Amino acid sequence: MSEITWELFERQVEACRLCPLCQHILHKVPGQGDRHSPLMLIGEGPGQDEDEQGLAFVGAAGQLLTKMLAAISLPRERVYICNVVKCRPPYNRIPTPEEAEACRIHLRMQVYLVRPKVIVLLGATAAKNVLGDHIRITRDRGIWTERKGVWILPTFHPSALLRDETKKPQAWEDMKSLRAKLKELGLYEELTGERA
Ligand code: URA
Repeated sequence: MSEITWELFERQVEACRLCPLCQHILHKVPGQGDRHSPLMLIGEGPGQDEDEQGLAFVGAAGQLLTKMLAAISLPRERVYICNVVKCRPPYNRIPTPEEAEACRIHLRMQVYLVRPKVIVLLGATAAKNVLGDHIRITRDRGIWTERKGVWILPTFHPSALLRDETKKPQAWEDMKSLRAKLKELGLYEELTGERA
C-alpha cells in the first residue's frame, strides 16, 4: 500500500468520482488550514462561495465561524477546516448518506494526516457522520466524547446560527467549553500564543 501523504490525499480528492456530486461543481473543496493543528473543524459540505473558490467556509457561514474562533482568541489560520463532503451538493442540500459514505475515505485520510487532539463537529451532518446516526444536534451539542485519545465536540453549524439567532448563546457556551478543553489539554497557548 502506498504511504499516506498530503500529496496522495490531494491527488485522490481531485481524481475522485466515487459519487455523482462532482458532476455539477466548479471546484473540489478538500479543506485548508494548519495541517499540524491540534484542532480540526468539520462542517457539512461546500456552498456556492466555497464551490467558486475551492476553499472551505469562505461564505457567510465561514465569516461567522472566523468570528466565533476569534471570540476565543483562535486565529483561523491556526486550525484545520474541512467538510464531510468535498463537492457541493446541488442547491446546498444535505449530502445523502451514500455521498457522505463515499467521501469518508478522504475525511479519514485528513484526520490521519492532521492527527488532531480536538475535533469540533459543525452541525448535524458532521456530528452524525463522525459520532453516529443517533446524534441529535439540539440535544447532544456541547457534550464531549473521547475517542482514541481525540476529544470531539458537536455544536451548531454557523449557518444554523445565521438562520436562528436564539441558538447563539448555546453556541457561545460551546466555544467557551472548547477554550476550556484546549487549556486543560495544554493546547491553548500553542494555538493562540496567549498564556493559558
Ligand atoms: N457550510 C459548510 O458546511 N461548509 C462550508 O465549507 C461552507 C458552508
